[in-house]
Amino acid sequence: MSFNSKQQKIANRIDINTSSANWRDWRWQLKHCITSLKQIETILGIEFPEDLRRQLQKTLDVFPLSVTPYYLSLIDRNDYQNDPIFKQSCPSVHELDIVKCDMEDPLHEDMDSPAPGITHRYPDRILFVISNTCAMYCRHCTRKRRVGNVESIPNRDEVQQGIDYIRGNTHIRDVLLSGGDPFLLPDDYLEWILSELSAIEHVEVIRIGTRTPVVLPYRITDKLVTMLKQFQPLWINTHFNHPRELTASSREALAKLADAGFPLGNQTVLLAGVNDCSRIIKSLVHKLVANRVRPYYLYQCDISMGLSHFRTPVGKGVEIMENLIGHTSGFCVPTYVIDAPGGGGKIPVMPNYLISWSTNKVILRNYEGVITTYQEPENYAATFCNRKCDQCDLQLKLDSADESSSIGIAKLLADYDDAISLVPEDNDRYNRREDEEDENEENDENDDGEQQ
Ligand SMILES: *Cc1c(COP(=O)(O)O)cnc(C)c1O
Repeated sequence: MSFNSKQQKIANRIDINTSSANWRDWRWQLKHCITSLKQIETILGIEFPEDLRRQLQKTLDVFPLSVTPYYLSLIDRNDYQNDPIFKQSCPSVHELDIVKCDMEDPLHEDMDSPAPGITHRYPDRILFVISNTCAMYCRHCTRKRRVGNVESIPNRDEVQQGIDYIRGNTHIRDVLLSGGDPFLLPDDYLEWILSELSAIEHVEVIRIGTRTPVVLPYRITDKLVTMLKQFQPLWINTHFNHPRELTASSREALAKLADAGFPLGNQTVLLAGVNDCSRIIKSLVHKLVANRVRPYYLYQCDISMGLSHFRTPVGKGVEIMENLIGHTSGFCVPTYVIDAPGGGGKIPVMPNYLISWSTNKVILRNYEGVITTYQEPENYAATFCNRKCDQCDLQLKLDSADESSSIGIAKLLADYDDAISLVPEDNDRYNRREDEEDENEENDENDDGEQQ
């Protein structure tokens, strides 16, 4: 059923003896990944102009190519230059347009790494890169610096060190496995990692980020699903960027995961020329929820090396959000985020709905442009929070309630914290104050001297 005549044709160009069973075998797909321009041309039946081919080859010398035959078969060869699948999987000469602000590691994932493969950015959760391999090398990969680099494949020892770090840090309640693609690891190796992690008492949830439902849907085998089911609660986040990626094979893979009870989420990257259009994103989120996948994040494209041609202004993302919020079901709407360069983490960005307020009224606007008022309560008895939850009327008598103190803006809002401002580390004005204090101290010493 999901081996159509186009796929048959492509399969036969790869190997004349390919059967439908081969095509649906993920190992066959991986073994026959397309890694050269010549193969793209033969398999799609296209021909790059000589000059372009030479330039594309230069791109591949820097950023390698790998596409599954399945994903390549989704390209419309008659309009490949504009094809969203082609643009995500096949090289562009613009990847070598390195602009001044491009960074190798814009999110400081390597810098904020206390153990191999681990980025510990938030207090209670970590990113754990356990695989450097992907079924398809996305041209828009934020970790492009590492793609195809054999030396950065985490070995068993390094993964063990990561697990030990998590075991030793009781604040970590959520472990996000990423890569590369964790589903490219062999079942038994992944099973080992998952069983080690789920045996750690403070790890409440494990998440897996994978693009296999999009680029290698046959990887979602019954055997894999049965293995994963031992480790609930396990959340699975995938990466669909365009409605055309939700094929019969992909939908089948998603159905297997959803039937097994894994909550499914999706992280889309906003990409110029691929999905920077509110109609495309709306159609994508509708298809996702129809397949039991909750749109989770819409990412602003990172400032990584070689991605400048994929970047849109932030305004495009805000415009897309304006076209979703209120216009469609709330659970179809992802959170639009910019991952802060320098490692600041994900920052949500939204159109403004709160347009003004006074002491007793809030002025809001809705998606239709209707401006409305919300009357504040007249007798709100605010509870002064001193963090003594056991004496509080709100009855938060939970053993496991989070007790860490607030940071950031939440700290400024807290009743129990005296902080009245957050000041950048190297603030001139504060530095001058410190100098004055030093001088005063010196004066004090002099005074003492005079008295003696
Ligand atoms: C995205 C990310 C997480 C998870 O963030 P959520 O907002 O909880 O999905 C954790 N650590 C790092 C380093 C991340 O980039």
